[in-house]
Amino acid sequence: MSAGFSSYIRRSRRISMLAPVASFGACVLMIVVVGKYLHVISVVGTLIAAGIASVATYARLHYRTEKFVRFAIRARLAKKAEPEFDKLTRNYRELGKYVQKSAHPSQEIKDALKQAEKNIGLNPGTTMPLVVPLELILGVPHNCPAAAAMLYAGRHPVILIDDNLQAMLDTDENYEKNYEIVVSVFCHELAHLIGWNTRWAKLVGICEIFVTTFTIAALAAYTLESNLFFGLIGVCIAAINLTFESTPTEEHQKPSITSILSRIALVSWIPFVLIGLIIGVLPIGLTIALTILTFGLRSLLAAMRRKEEIYADMISAIAHGSSSPLSDFFRTLSSSYPNLWTRIFSTHPPVSLRIKALRRIKN
Ligand SMILES: [Zn+2]
Repeated sequence: MSAGFSSYIRRSRRISMLAPVASFGACVLMIVVVGKYLHVISVVGTLIAAGIASVATYARLHYRTEKFVRFAIRARLAKKAEPEFDKLTRNYRELGKYVQKSAHPSQEIKDALKQAEKNIGLNPGTTMPLVVPLELILGVPHNCPAAAAMLYAGRHPVILIDDNLQAMLDTDENYEKNYEIVVSVFCHELAHLIGWNTRWAKLVGICEIFVTTFTIAALAAYTLESNLFFGLIGVCIAAINLTFESTPTEEHQKPSITSILSRIALVSWIPFVLIGLIIGVLPIGLTIALTILTFGLRSLLAAMRRKEEIYADMISAIAHGSSSPLSDFFRTLSSSYPNLWTRIFSTHPPVSLRIKALRRIKN
Protein backbone atom coordinates (compact mmCIF):
# COMPACT_ATOMS: atom_id res chain seq x y z
CA MET A 1 0.00 0.00 0.00
CA SER A 2 1.20 3.54 -0.67
CA ALA A 3 3.33 5.51 1.75
CA GLY A 4 0.51 8.00 2.23
CA PHE A 5 -1.63 5.30 3.78
CA SER A 6 0.66 4.56 6.73
CA SER A 7 1.56 8.21 7.19
CA TYR A 8 -2.13 9.15 7.59
CA ILE A 9 -2.62 6.31 10.08
CA ARG A 10 0.41 7.52 12.03
CA ARG A 11 -0.91 11.09 12.06
CA SER A 12 -4.35 9.93 13.13
CA ARG A 13 -2.88 7.88 15.98
CA ARG A 14 -0.72 10.78 17.08
CA ILE A 15 -3.82 12.99 17.45
CA SER A 16 -5.67 10.21 19.25
CA MET A 17 -2.83 9.89 21.75
CA LEU A 18 -2.59 13.65 22.17
CA ALA A 19 -6.29 14.05 22.98
CA PRO A 20 -6.26 12.24 26.36
CA VAL A 21 -2.97 13.93 27.29
CA ALA A 22 -4.39 17.40 26.51
CA SER A 23 -7.66 16.60 28.27
CA PHE A 24 -6.02 15.25 31.37
CA GLY A 25 -3.49 18.09 31.38
CA ALA A 26 -6.25 20.70 31.19
CA CYS A 27 -8.10 19.06 34.09
CA VAL A 28 -4.95 19.00 36.27
CA LEU A 29 -4.11 22.59 35.35
CA MET A 30 -7.61 23.67 36.33
CA ILE A 31 -7.35 21.96 39.71
CA VAL A 32 -3.98 23.68 40.32
CA VAL A 33 -5.43 27.09 39.38
CA VAL A 34 -8.48 26.60 41.58
CA GLY A 35 -6.21 25.43 44.42
CA LYS A 36 -4.57 28.86 44.44
CA TYR A 37 -7.90 30.59 45.06
CA LEU A 38 -9.98 28.18 47.12
CA HIS A 39 -9.59 26.56 50.51
CA VAL A 40 -8.36 22.97 50.21
CA ILE A 41 -11.64 21.58 51.56
CA SER A 42 -13.59 23.52 48.91
CA VAL A 43 -11.25 22.19 46.21
CA VAL A 44 -11.83 18.59 47.31
CA GLY A 45 -15.60 19.16 47.53
CA THR A 46 -15.70 20.79 44.11
CA LEU A 47 -13.59 18.02 42.65
CA ILE A 48 -15.88 15.27 43.98
CA ALA A 49 -19.08 17.07 42.90
CA ALA A 50 -17.75 17.85 39.41
CA GLY A 51 -16.30 14.34 39.02
CA ILE A 52 -19.59 12.61 39.87
CA ALA A 53 -21.61 15.04 37.74
CA SER A 54 -19.41 14.61 34.66
CA VAL A 55 -19.36 10.80 34.83
CA ALA A 56 -23.15 10.80 35.28
CA THR A 57 -23.67 13.22 32.37
CA TYR A 58 -21.40 11.16 30.11
CA ALA A 59 -23.30 7.98 31.01
CA ARG A 60 -26.63 9.72 30.36
CA LEU A 61 -25.46 11.03 26.98
CA HIS A 62 -24.39 7.58 25.83
CA TYR A 63 -27.11 5.57 27.51
CA ARG A 64 -29.29 5.12 24.41
CA THR A 65 -26.42 4.16 22.12
CA GLU A 66 -25.10 1.61 24.61
CA LYS A 67 -28.60 0.26 25.16
CA PHE A 68 -29.38 -0.28 21.49
CA VAL A 69 -25.97 -1.74 20.77
CA ARG A 70 -26.56 -4.18 23.61
CA PHE A 71 -30.00 -5.00 22.16
CA ALA A 72 -28.56 -5.49 18.69
CA ILE A 73 -25.88 -7.86 19.97
CA ARG A 74 -28.47 -9.82 21.97
CA ALA A 75 -30.81 -9.93 19.00
CA ARG A 76 -28.07 -11.33 16.77
CA LEU A 77 -26.91 -13.88 19.29
CA ALA A 78 -30.48 -14.84 20.19
CA LYS A 79 -31.46 -15.47 16.60
CA LYS A 80 -28.53 -17.79 16.20
CA ALA A 81 -29.18 -19.71 19.40
CA GLU A 82 -32.95 -19.65 19.55
CA PRO A 83 -35.09 -19.86 16.45
CA GLU A 84 -38.17 -19.10 18.54
CA PHE A 85 -36.92 -15.67 19.13
CA ASP A 86 -40.13 -14.31 20.67
CA LYS A 87 -39.52 -16.28 23.84
CA LEU A 88 -36.43 -14.24 24.49
CA THR A 89 -38.00 -10.91 23.80
CA ARG A 90 -40.59 -11.30 26.53
CA ASN A 91 -38.20 -9.88 29.07
CA TYR A 92 -37.16 -7.06 26.84
CA ARG A 93 -40.17 -5.33 25.44
CA GLU A 94 -37.97 -2.76 23.77
CA LEU A 95 -35.80 -5.48 22.33
CA GLY A 96 -38.86 -6.89 20.62
CA LYS A 97 -39.71 -3.44 19.29
CA TYR A 98 -36.15 -3.07 18.12
CA VAL A 99 -36.10 -6.38 16.31
CA GLN A 100 -39.34 -5.56 14.50
CA LYS A 101 -38.02 -2.17 13.52
CA SER A 102 -34.56 -3.24 12.58
CA ALA A 103 -33.15 -5.83 10.30
CA HIS A 104 -30.11 -7.97 10.84
CA PRO A 105 -27.18 -7.16 8.57
CA SER A 106 -27.99 -8.32 5.06
CA GLN A 107 -25.58 -10.53 3.13
CA GLU A 108 -24.74 -7.58 0.87
CA ILE A 109 -23.84 -5.34 3.79
CA LYS A 110 -21.75 -8.10 5.38
CA ASP A 111 -19.90 -8.56 2.08
CA ALA A 112 -19.28 -4.83 1.80
CA LEU A 113 -17.82 -4.73 5.31
CA LYS A 114 -15.58 -7.73 4.60
CA GLN A 115 -14.39 -6.00 1.43
CA ALA A 116 -13.64 -2.84 3.40
CA GLU A 117 -11.75 -4.83 6.05
CA LYS A 118 -9.67 -6.43 3.32
CA ASN A 119 -8.99 -3.05 1.68
CA ILE A 120 -7.78 -1.51 4.90
CA GLY A 121 -5.61 -4.48 5.83
CA LEU A 122 -7.71 -6.12 8.54
CA ASN A 123 -8.73 -9.75 8.66
CA PRO A 124 -12.26 -10.10 7.27
CA GLY A 125 -14.65 -10.62 10.19
CA THR A 126 -12.61 -8.54 12.65
CA THR A 127 -15.47 -6.15 13.30
CA MET A 128 -19.08 -6.95 14.10
CA PRO A 129 -21.68 -5.26 11.91
CA LEU A 130 -24.83 -4.21 13.77
CA VAL A 131 -27.81 -2.61 12.14
CA VAL A 132 -29.03 0.00 14.57
CA PRO A 133 -31.50 2.54 13.16
CA LEU A 134 -30.19 5.97 14.11
CA GLU A 135 -33.80 6.97 14.53
CA LEU A 136 -34.00 4.80 17.65
CA ILE A 137 -30.80 6.21 19.12
CA LEU A 138 -31.64 9.82 18.35
CA GLY A 139 -35.33 9.48 19.16
CA VAL A 140 -36.23 11.56 16.08
CA PRO A 141 -36.92 10.61 12.45
CA HIS A 142 -33.68 10.27 10.57
CA ASN A 143 -33.38 9.52 6.89
CA CYS A 144 -29.75 9.94 6.03
CA PRO A 145 -27.50 6.89 5.58
CA ALA A 146 -24.77 6.73 8.20
CA ALA A 147 -22.39 4.43 10.02
CA ALA A 148 -20.26 4.69 13.13
CA ALA A 149 -17.37 2.76 14.63
CA MET A 150 -17.13 2.06 18.33
CA LEU A 151 -15.45 -0.24 20.79
CA TYR A 152 -18.21 -2.03 22.64
CA ALA A 153 -17.40 -2.51 26.32
CA GLY A 154 -14.12 -0.78 25.56
CA ARG A 155 -12.64 -3.59 23.47
CA HIS A 156 -14.98 -5.20 20.89
CA PRO A 157 -14.83 -3.38 17.56
CA VAL A 158 -18.36 -2.77 16.31
CA ILE A 159 -19.62 -1.01 13.20
CA LEU A 160 -23.04 0.53 13.70
CA ILE A 161 -24.97 0.66 10.46
CA ASP A 162 -28.00 2.84 10.05
CA ASP A 163 -30.85 1.02 8.28
CA ASN A 164 -30.79 3.71 5.56
CA LEU A 165 -27.23 2.70 4.67
CA GLN A 166 -28.23 -0.95 4.55
CA ALA A 167 -31.20 0.01 2.33
CA MET A 168 -28.74 1.38 -0.26
CA LEU A 169 -27.79 -2.21 -1.09
CA ASP A 170 -31.34 -3.55 -1.05
CA THR A 171 -32.19 -2.51 -4.60
CA ASP A 172 -30.61 -3.46 -7.92
CA GLU A 173 -30.78 0.12 -9.09
CA ASN A 174 -27.28 1.68 -9.11
CA TYR A 175 -26.08 -1.34 -7.15
CA GLU A 176 -22.44 -1.19 -8.27
CA LYS A 177 -22.16 2.49 -7.47
CA ASN A 178 -23.89 2.15 -4.11
CA TYR A 179 -21.73 -0.84 -3.22
CA GLU A 180 -18.58 1.24 -3.79
CA ILE A 181 -20.01 4.03 -1.65
CA VAL A 182 -20.90 1.67 1.21
CA VAL A 183 -17.43 0.05 1.09
CA SER A 184 -15.84 3.52 1.22
CA VAL A 185 -17.99 4.55 4.17
CA PHE A 186 -16.96 1.34 5.96
CA CYS A 187 -13.29 2.02 5.13
CA HIS A 188 -13.72 5.45 6.73
CA GLU A 189 -15.19 3.90 9.89
CA LEU A 190 -12.48 1.22 10.04
CA ALA A 191 -9.91 4.01 9.63
CA HIS A 192 -11.25 5.48 12.88
CA LEU A 193 -10.61 2.13 14.54
CA ILE A 194 -7.10 1.56 13.22
CA GLY A 195 -6.30 5.24 13.79
CA TRP A 196 -7.12 4.62 17.49
CA ASN A 197 -9.75 7.38 17.34
CA THR A 198 -12.19 5.38 19.46
CA ARG A 199 -9.67 4.08 21.95
CA TRP A 200 -9.72 6.77 24.61
CA ALA A 201 -13.10 8.23 23.65
CA LYS A 202 -14.60 7.63 27.08
CA LEU A 203 -11.74 9.24 29.03
CA VAL A 204 -11.61 12.23 26.67
CA GLY A 205 -15.41 12.57 26.72
CA ILE A 206 -15.55 12.60 30.51
CA CYS A 207 -12.64 15.10 30.78
CA GLU A 208 -14.40 17.33 28.27
CA ILE A 209 -17.55 17.45 30.39
CA PHE A 210 -15.45 17.72 33.55
CA VAL A 211 -13.79 21.02 32.55
CA THR A 212 -17.18 22.72 32.16
CA THR A 213 -18.65 21.14 35.28
CA PHE A 214 -15.56 21.92 37.35
CA THR A 215 -15.56 25.56 36.21
CA ILE A 216 -19.19 26.01 37.23
CA ALA A 217 -18.69 24.19 40.53
CA ALA A 218 -15.45 26.04 41.38
CA LEU A 219 -16.91 29.49 40.68
CA ALA A 220 -19.99 28.63 42.76
CA ALA A 221 -17.72 27.39 45.58
CA TYR A 222 -15.66 30.59 45.50
CA THR A 223 -18.71 32.82 45.80
CA LEU A 224 -19.90 30.62 48.66
CA GLU A 225 -16.62 31.29 50.50
CA SER A 226 -16.73 35.05 49.92
CA ASN A 227 -20.46 35.79 50.16
CA LEU A 228 -22.79 33.18 51.64
CA PHE A 229 -26.06 34.59 50.23
CA PHE A 230 -24.74 35.20 46.72
CA GLY A 231 -22.90 31.90 46.84
CA LEU A 232 -26.07 29.97 47.65
CA ILE A 233 -27.75 31.43 44.54
CA GLY A 234 -24.75 30.25 42.50
CA VAL A 235 -24.82 26.78 44.03
CA CYS A 236 -28.57 26.50 43.24
CA ILE A 237 -28.04 27.56 39.61
CA ALA A 238 -25.10 25.17 39.23
CA ALA A 239 -26.95 22.27 40.89
CA ILE A 240 -30.10 22.73 38.75
CA ASN A 241 -28.05 23.03 35.58
CA LEU A 242 -25.87 20.01 36.29
CA THR A 243 -28.70 17.78 37.52
CA PHE A 244 -31.24 18.46 34.81
CA GLU A 245 -28.96 19.09 31.83
CA SER A 246 -30.83 17.60 28.89
CA THR A 247 -29.32 15.19 26.42
CA PRO A 248 -29.44 15.89 22.66
CA THR A 249 -32.24 13.28 22.37
CA GLU A 250 -34.41 15.10 24.86
CA GLU A 251 -33.84 18.39 23.07
CA HIS A 252 -35.87 17.13 20.14
CA GLN A 253 -38.76 16.08 22.32
CA LYS A 254 -41.38 18.18 24.04
CA PRO A 255 -39.76 20.36 26.70
CA SER A 256 -40.25 18.96 30.19
CA ILE A 257 -40.20 20.92 33.44
CA THR A 258 -36.68 19.70 34.18
CA SER A 259 -35.36 20.74 30.77
CA ILE A 260 -36.94 24.21 31.15
CA LEU A 261 -35.39 24.53 34.63
CA SER A 262 -32.01 23.52 33.21
CA ARG A 263 -32.30 26.12 30.43
CA ILE A 264 -33.21 28.86 32.89
CA ALA A 265 -30.24 27.87 35.07
CA LEU A 266 -27.91 27.93 32.04
CA VAL A 267 -29.14 31.35 30.92
CA SER A 268 -28.91 32.84 34.42
CA TRP A 269 -25.32 31.62 34.84
CA ILE A 270 -23.83 34.40 32.67
CA PRO A 271 -25.49 37.32 34.56
CA PHE A 272 -24.59 35.56 37.82
CA VAL A 273 -20.89 35.52 36.90
CA LEU A 274 -20.99 39.10 35.58
CA ILE A 275 -22.67 40.41 38.76
CA GLY A 276 -20.20 38.38 40.84
CA LEU A 277 -17.31 40.05 39.04
CA ILE A 278 -18.82 43.54 39.41
CA ILE A 279 -19.56 43.29 43.13
CA GLY A 280 -16.20 41.66 43.70
CA VAL A 281 -17.22 38.24 45.03
CA LEU A 282 -15.57 36.54 42.04
CA PRO A 283 -11.90 37.15 41.19
CA ILE A 284 -11.30 38.16 37.57
CA GLY A 285 -8.13 36.05 37.31
CA LEU A 286 -9.85 32.80 38.31
CA THR A 287 -12.90 33.43 36.13
CA ILE A 288 -10.84 34.21 33.04
CA ALA A 289 -8.38 31.34 33.59
CA LEU A 290 -11.17 28.77 33.98
CA THR A 291 -13.14 30.11 31.02
CA ILE A 292 -10.08 30.05 28.76
CA LEU A 293 -9.15 26.53 29.84
CA THR A 294 -12.71 25.24 29.32
CA PHE A 295 -13.33 26.73 25.89
CA GLY A 296 -9.70 26.20 24.90
CA LEU A 297 -9.87 22.46 25.57
CA ARG A 298 -13.29 22.02 24.00
CA SER A 299 -12.35 23.83 20.80
CA LEU A 300 -8.99 22.03 20.66
CA LEU A 301 -10.69 18.62 20.98
CA ALA A 302 -13.25 19.57 18.32
CA ALA A 303 -10.41 20.63 15.98
CA MET A 304 -8.64 17.32 16.67
CA ARG A 305 -11.80 15.36 15.86
CA ARG A 306 -12.23 17.26 12.60
CA LYS A 307 -8.64 16.37 11.75
CA GLU A 308 -9.35 12.70 12.54
CA GLU A 309 -12.29 12.84 10.14
CA ILE A 310 -10.12 14.18 7.33
CA TYR A 311 -7.46 11.53 8.02
CA ALA A 312 -10.13 8.80 8.04
CA ASP A 313 -11.38 10.10 4.67
CA MET A 314 -7.83 10.01 3.27
CA ILE A 315 -7.12 6.53 4.63
CA SER A 316 -10.42 5.31 3.19
CA ALA A 317 -9.75 6.81 -0.24
CA ILE A 318 -6.22 5.36 -0.43
CA ALA A 319 -7.31 1.94 0.85
CA HIS A 320 -10.21 1.87 -1.56
CA GLY A 321 -8.09 3.07 -4.46
CA SER A 322 -10.47 5.88 -5.31
CA SER A 323 -11.84 8.95 -3.59
CA SER A 324 -14.87 9.29 -5.86
CA PRO A 325 -17.32 7.04 -3.95
CA LEU A 326 -16.70 8.95 -0.72
CA SER A 327 -17.02 12.31 -2.50
CA ASP A 328 -20.25 11.06 -4.09
CA PHE A 329 -21.50 10.09 -0.65
CA PHE A 330 -20.67 13.51 0.83
CA ARG A 331 -22.49 15.23 -2.01
CA THR A 332 -25.70 13.50 -0.90
CA LEU A 333 -25.27 14.93 2.60
CA SER A 334 -26.05 18.51 3.29
CA SER A 335 -24.07 20.23 5.96
CA SER A 336 -23.40 23.85 6.46
CA TYR A 337 -22.57 25.58 9.67
CA PRO A 338 -25.14 28.17 10.70
CA ASN A 339 -22.66 30.20 12.74
CA LEU A 340 -19.11 30.59 13.97
CA TRP A 341 -19.93 28.87 17.27
CA THR A 342 -20.88 25.60 15.59
CA ARG A 343 -17.84 25.89 13.32
CA ILE A 344 -15.49 26.05 16.31
CA PHE A 345 -17.14 23.28 18.30
CA SER A 346 -18.25 20.95 15.51
CA THR A 347 -16.72 17.49 15.53
CA HIS A 348 -17.03 17.04 11.75
CA PRO A 349 -15.55 19.30 9.10
CA PRO A 350 -17.97 20.81 6.55
CA VAL A 351 -18.71 18.52 3.63
CA SER A 352 -17.24 20.99 1.11
CA LEU A 353 -13.90 20.89 2.95
CA ARG A 354 -13.91 17.08 3.06
CA ILE A 355 -14.53 16.87 -0.68
CA LYS A 356 -11.75 19.39 -1.29
CA ALA A 357 -9.34 17.39 0.88
CA LEU A 358 -10.21 14.21 -1.00
CA ARG A 359 -9.35 15.88 -4.30
CA ARG A 360 -5.74 15.97 -3.17
CA ILE A 361 -5.64 12.19 -3.49
CA LYS A 362 -4.99 10.94 -6.98
CA ASN A 363 -7.59 8.47 -8.15
ZN1 LIG B 1 -15.91 9.68 10.81
